[in-house]
Amino acid sequence: MRCPFCGGPDTQVKDSRPSEDSAAIRRRRVCPDCGGRFTTFERVQLRELTVLKRSGKRMPFDRDKLQRSIDVALRKRPVEPERIERLVSGVVRRLESTGDGEVTSEAIGEAVMEGLKGLDDVAYVRFASVYKNFREAQDFQDLLGTLGGRLAEDGEPAPEPPSVDSEPPAPPRRRPARSRS
Ligand SMILES: [Zn+2]
Repeated sequence: MRCPFCGGPDTQVKDSRPSEDSAAIRRRRVCPDCGGRFTTFERVQLRELTVLKRSGKRMPFDRDKLQRSIDVALRKRPVEPERIERLVSGVVRRLESTGDGEVTSEAIGEAVMEGLKGLDDVAYVRFASVYKNFREAQDFQDLLGTLGGRLAEDGEPAPEPPSVDSEPPAPPRRRPARSRS
């Protein structure tokens, strides 16, 4: 595997172990030329996938791109990385096992939404709102309705992590006394 940093041809495997429930092998590699370190994954690929875009263009399916869009939807959500990896793998498997190796971008979006629905409602709405590109507010209301209002509390697009030391807002907080030198 060529080094992504310097292009050196002879990177070495330093560590190799199963990941994603043994659905993949994760390899840590190091480049003897520049010292660069990176990770590769070896996975079963049932078939080559081509994405048929709405515009009619075709392009090779990009697992990393799928992973990134799912990561964005799940940002700061309390979902273990292993479950996210399983979701991505499951979506890819399903896409690979349908049709003739060509999937529409709609089918990908539907598969992701299907998976997110069972995993995390907030991530589901985030992804759906981007993917479906809601033209009418009503669509969004309908979607929230189907989720039974469970998102009333935390449906913000990018919620802050809960503050560990939240206090009533009224009095300004004083810094704890620190030793000054
Ligand atoms: Zn290198």
